[in-house]
Amino acid sequence: MRAMVLDGPGQPLRLAELPCPVPHAGQLLLAVQACGVCRTDLHLRDGELPDAVWPLVPGHEIVARVAGLGPGVRGWRQGQRVGVPWLGWTCGHCRFCTSGRENLCVQACFTGYQLPGGYAEYTLADARYCLPLPETPAPEHLAPLLCAGLIGYRALRMAGDAGRLGIYGFGAAAHLITQLACGQGRAVYAFTRPGDGASQAFALSLGACWAGGSDAPPPEPLDAALIFAPAGALVPLALRHLDKGGCVVCAGIHMSDIPGFPYAWLWGERSIRSVAHLTRADGQAFFEAIRQAPPRTEVRVFPLEQANEALEQLRRGAFQGAAVLRVAGDEAAWTAE
Ligand SMILES: [Zn+2]
Ligand SMILES: [Zn+2]
Repeated sequence: MRAMVLDGPGQPLRLAELPCPVPHAGQLLLAVQACGVCRTDLHLRDGELPDAVWPLVPGHEIVARVAGLGPGVRGWRQGQRVGVPWLGWTCGHCRFCTSGRENLCVQACFTGYQLPGGYAEYTLADARYCLPLPETPAPEHLAPLLCAGLIGYRALRMAGDAGRLGIYGFGAAAHLITQLACGQGRAVYAFTRPGDGASQAFALSLGACWAGGSDAPPPEPLDAALIFAPAGALVPLALRHLDKGGCVVCAGIHMSDIPGFPYAWLWGERSIRSVAHLTRADGQAFFEAIRQAPPRTEVRVFPLEQANEALEQLRRGAFQGAAVLRVAGDEAAWTAE
């Protein structure tokens, strides 16, 4: 099979021919159809994340078809459409796993990081962490939901019932969560890089009531702010615009250092928190939440072998929405079955 392999930090991905994997007990063999390109993959390639197991095949927004079942797998059938998110394995018995917080499991393993990812024609996944997916829309439109959508959804839930919601960093997650938040009746204030009129227009087209540069104040105080951009300087900026009792939610896995700020900005029961990974319950709740009105996904599609180009365009902010690798082209062969 063809796969894009990352040999170590700072290196470009390399197109490789690898043996097709064989599913072990509890695993699904998956024929990858599309895989989203996440900012986390960029952090991985840049060597900004510890604990990577080199060499690795990245990719944790996988839309696939079941191509084989390992021994003991129940509840899945050949050809079924399946999604593989970031959380790939947990121990099941640590203090976090046993208290509904498996996202914080001390031994957790993640897809496309310690476990095989989706920048490949085939991959393996523990069946217990896979999500059944609907037959529509097309794989490239479903893929961004599996991280940008899911992590964004968890971040949105951490914002509680905030009616005035700021969103910093208008990329893949923001473009999905804006639609969801607006559908819930919240007012969304979108902050982009200063001067990025295209992203601001994009945010307004998705339902945001206001869009501006991250250096501009919103027209009214915010009840919560979600930060999807990896820039620590945004944290005190967002904090300054919070109403009393508001919360800044940092949703990225990596961020540059957060500059100091006066205590008065935090006073008034404002808070800053991070969101780490996701639980399986988040996955189920998210797909349930969007079943009636799925968000529109704006995608730029690349063939598998152009993964490096996709990452560079993501770094440059060269497109709106999400980047997706299209892996297998013969979707018709599956749906005809
Ligand atoms: Zn991700
Ligand atoms: Zn655990």
